[in-house]
Amino acid sequence: MRVLILATTTGYQTRSFGEAAERLGIELVFATDRCDKIDDPWRDQAIPIRFFDEAGSVSAIVDASNGKPLDGVLALGDRPTVIAAGVAQALGLPGNPPEAAALARNKQLLRVRLRDSGLPAPWFFATSISHQPSAISPQPSSYPCVIKPVALSGSRGVIRADDASTFQAAFERVRALLQSIEIRAERNDANETILVEEFVSGREYAVEAVLHHGVLQLLAMFDKPDPLDGPFFEETIYVTPSRASTETQDAIVGAIAGAVRAIGLEHGPIHAECRVNERGVFVLEVAARPIGGLCARSLRFRSADGDRLSAVSSRIISLEELLLRHALGEEPTKYEREALASGVMMIPIPRRGVFRGVDGIDAARAVAGVDDVRVTAKADQLLVPLPEGASYLGFIFAHDDTPAGVERALRAAHARLTFAIDPELPVLMAAQTRYNPDYG
Ligand code: ADP
Repeated sequence: MRVLILATTTGYQTRSFGEAAERLGIELVFATDRCDKIDDPWRDQAIPIRFFDEAGSVSAIVDASNGKPLDGVLALGDRPTVIAAGVAQALGLPGNPPEAAALARNKQLLRVRLRDSGLPAPWFFATSISHQPSAISPQPSSYPCVIKPVALSGSRGVIRADDASTFQAAFERVRALLQSIEIRAERNDANETILVEEFVSGREYAVEAVLHHGVLQLLAMFDKPDPLDGPFFEETIYVTPSRASTETQDAIVGAIAGAVRAIGLEHGPIHAECRVNERGVFVLEVAARPIGGLCARSLRFRSADGDRLSAVSSRIISLEELLLRHALGEEPTKYEREALASGVMMIPIPRRGVFRGVDGIDAARAVAGVDDVRVTAKADQLLVPLPEGASYLGFIFAHDDTPAGVERALRAAHARLTFAIDPELPVLMAAQTRYNPDYG
């Protein structure tokens, strides 16, 4: 059996899929975003594709699969989701309609679709990055609002504005980000557009799910216990199971199922974010891909058949293994999240500067309940915080009997870490951060 994995480049997440595939005895075929002039630069025999050339990428993959048939397709990260949908359609494999995948990836199209479907939606308008912010700043009664790129992810470029002057500064900042060399290299026309929308107050939740021929199967609901009130929206702690009331959890699942139907997504992993307040559940996004990179390690599953476990499914399996099994046709209802509460902290970048190192990893790992502490920043790397940055310092993972215990363990471990960050020297200014697919 062969499963195609579309990814930016090979990284933590592709390695985890590699390990899961080995356990399952299936073959992975990678298609990654790169220049085909370089002959297999990563020596992973990946099919070279360019994310900006969606039709060309689908044809390249279909051609490469000639004589070596594919049995399933998975996209990692937002950018290849439309190509994955196109490949599934071309090869007759279960997947999402390409139009639905394209809609899910564009925040403006998504807002229009959710609003037109009658689902709770913030007010919004889209505008070109070439407009003068003074000419389009919202009425005083419309603050606070949020300014965001329509096609970036990981909260990049998402800024809250509280008045006309912060609106103008935020707009200029998002425009500068979208005009940076790195973002221009994506060659995505959607990066010419900025979305302005109502700030939705309330608590935020993330949902990991799998769509199986149109049926939504919840895998995990995460609370985000740190308030995300801006002006930037850095993810920190995710803890599951949610401590929200059953009523709120049901409303969240219902709202996400409604958004999935409105978008037209049908088959494959889903990562959704929503905010809940007294006006209802506001779905902020539904991405047609799994949770990013290392964060997936906070999820483990067991067979849902209790005592009637088969030899294979009685063990705990990773999200990657579950998704590979699903990509090959297995029903996701066979699995449920393990009994313990679990969580991850995406370690925020406290300030811009050059990363020199970290102290206290052993002490942080020694905190009861902590499974692992992984510092992913590299020595001498320029750290760029949000809204421009696209990475974290690292990740802390914990398990406990209760969600509160997980949260405590994550915070205690984080408190034991000391990061050395030097001021940036002018000579290092050119060293830009690279897009890092390993975020939540
Ligand atoms: P991305 O795909 O980059 O993660 P989102 O649109 O999901 O972009 O926004 C990232 C984060 O910014 C959200 O998780 C939320 O915390 C915050 N955010 C985005 N839009 C709003 C909004 N309209 N009101 C309040 N918070 C928002």
